[in-house]
Amino acid sequence: MIQNCKYHCPKCEESLMKSTRVELNFKRINHKDRGVIHLSPEPGNYDFLTTPKIDFEKEERVIFICPYCDSDLTSKKNNKFAELKMMVNEIIYFEALFSTVHGDKRTYIITQDEVDTYGDAEADGEIHDDLEDFIL
Ligand SMILES: [Zn+2]
Repeated sequence: MIQNCKYHCPKCEESLMKSTRVELNFKRINHKDRGVIHLSPEPGNYDFLTTPKIDFEKEERVIFICPYCDSDLTSKKNNKFAELKMMVNEIIYFEALFSTVHGDKRTYIITQDEVDTYGDAEADGEIHDDLEDFIL
């Protein structure tokens, strides 16, 4: 089921899929670089490609931006994560939160009644502390 999900901007609802990848704009906080990043749609898979090519610093936080409405996709639940809308089908969607800190491979998929963890995320990790109000 997860494999067939499509990602959309939570603000303008535009599809962020470019062929089989998720395409976003990004900017660095301590540098002036901006560019385009392609991410894997598979939760917890942190393989990515950037244009221009950038060697991010360890633990550097990157800001992800919707290429359509220019919204900052930083999650309001935890600013170390970006939040996308993950459409399972026309009606059902989940919130996908993925770490924006380079080297931190944690992804959380928030469904109606639970939080699924991917990558290096722990089931009782920090996001749960921030999310309790939202999922209960
Ligand atoms: Zn948007």
